[in-house]
Amino acid sequence: MLNKTDLHCHTLYSDGSLSPQQIVERAAQNGVSSLAITDHDCIQAVLDLWPNRDKLPLTLISGVEISSSWEGKDIHVIGLNFEPYDQSLQDFLKQQQQLRFERAQELMQKLTDKLGILDIEQKLQKISQGYSICRSHFAALIVEEGKASDFGKAFSKFLAKGKSCSVKSHWVSTEEAIYHIHQAGGVAVLAHPSRYQLSNSRTFELIKSFSFAGGKAIEVCYSSLKSQDQRRLIRIAKEFSLLGSVGSDFHHPYQTWANLGQVAPLPADILPIWQNF
Ligand code: AMP
Ligand code: MN
Ligand code: MN
Ligand code: MN
Repeated sequence: MLNKTDLHCHTLYSDGSLSPQQIVERAAQNGVSSLAITDHDCIQAVLDLWPNRDKLPLTLISGVEISSSWEGKDIHVIGLNFEPYDQSLQDFLKQQQQLRFERAQELMQKLTDKLGILDIEQKLQKISQGYSICRSHFAALIVEEGKASDFGKAFSKFLAKGKSCSVKSHWVSTEEAIYHIHQAGGVAVLAHPSRYQLSNSRTFELIKSFSFAGGKAIEVCYSSLKSQDQRRLIRIAKEFSLLGSVGSDFHHPYQTWANLGQVAPLPADILPIWQNF
């Protein structure tokens, strides 16, 4: 038994490519015994699996990755172990989806105007399969249209802040995101703290305010996190009595560098967020 934990991944309901059932099967095959599916602003995968969760080959923990804003930066807050049928949470996620829809309208206009992509609505519908529309779907379309050679370049050339196809996001504050997770009985985890292009001191400020707003943990194990950065994050977490979380952020089977369950185990000097689940 491998007994791995993976508390961050995506299905086709957001910007992943596998169904909830396929994710569960792949995770179990990879030795994951505790899994949280955390689609962007969407818990449909959790709702699909929830009624039969006792029959799954692993323990399913409810999860979501909420888009929020802190000092002008898009910050991702993972909600875990909440009540998925909570009406206030579902209402809040509906609002988030409305923001995604409005942003997608703006992005479609940009891609049409700046890149001359035609029939964009149908193309996007096909790529996103009609669920939670993410910027990664636009990145896929840009690549498909031959305007960039890969996802990363689609972001760095067109979608990133200040580039020709960037749009302003209007997410709730990080504090509000944490509040909505708490309302549904869950705990809030700061996702991938090193991926926001913040200086060390601003990362410290982010984690501090996340903790003051009631956040309980930060991710300290994920792909691309260097060991030196991990040590720094763990030091900050301990300063604010935060727990640690681990998540592959798996999206697609071809992303072999972020496979399900393929994430370093939590270092012994930080307590796991899942200790009380
Ligand atoms: P959204 O939440 O709709 O703004 O989309 C954010 C998602 O886009 C992230 O969760 C990643 O999956 C993807 N993403 C963001 N930046 C990059 C990048 N530089 N390269 C590849 N994927 C990215
Ligand atoms: Mn994503
Ligand atoms: Mn994220
Ligand atoms: Mn993610």
